[in-house]
Amino acid sequence: MLRSISPTRRAFQGDVTQQTNANRDNLPIARGPSPSCATVTSALEHGLLALIATRIKTGKETDMGFRCTMGFHSGTWIYTAGNSCGQQRNCERDDCTDVSYRTRHEALGPWELDNPRDRTSCEGSAVCRRCGEDVSSVEHEYDWAYVSDDHCEQVRMCVRCSDKETSDKTRIQHVWQDWQFNQSGGKSRLCRRCGDEQDK
Ligand SMILES: [Zn+2]
Ligand SMILES: [Zn+2]
Ligand SMILES: [Zn+2]
Ligand SMILES: [Zn+2]
Repeated sequence: MLRSISPTRRAFQGDVTQQTNANRDNLPIARGPSPSCATVTSALEHGLLALIATRIKTGKETDMGFRCTMGFHSGTWIYTAGNSCGQQRNCERDDCTDVSYRTRHEALGPWELDNPRDRTSCEGSAVCRRCGEDVSSVEHEYDWAYVSDDHCEQVRMCVRCSDKETSDKTRIQHVWQDWQFNQSGGKSRLCRRCGDEQDK
């Protein structure tokens, strides 16, 4: 059985990202004719779209500043304190003042089920050795399982909660009876699940 890390867990380790994007505030905001949609968001979107259009026209869509305006900053994430998993990244590109924050628990101890007796739940947690936080996550234990009682198709399914693995891997796993002589003098055998017949 393979233990695979669920999307939930990945999200936990990775992307709790808050961004303060000082650069965005400096964007030219499009002065649209209608103030009815002048929310902060739509003004920002108008500004970005106008900027993208300009950049594409001038052929500058690959320069670094453009990537920053789209939120793809560059730089090294560093921990902000010794006993915390908060990280900070100051964008290193010229003229960009973006500072981003995220939380990344990279020193997780052994993961354990929250309720080991509950054979239908895959919720568990692991203590982070760096910050001491109890980090919750869902982890499944996938194995092959039959889709139905009278067919031999198997899919990857969690042995506890029956969650189906995101991959579409399938296989056929017949359960053959012993070889028997058939009417034409050869040997054949039947699958006791689906009734398929195989000749030797
Ligand atoms: Zn940047
Ligand atoms: Zn941590
Ligand atoms: Zn599960
Ligand atoms: Zn079968």
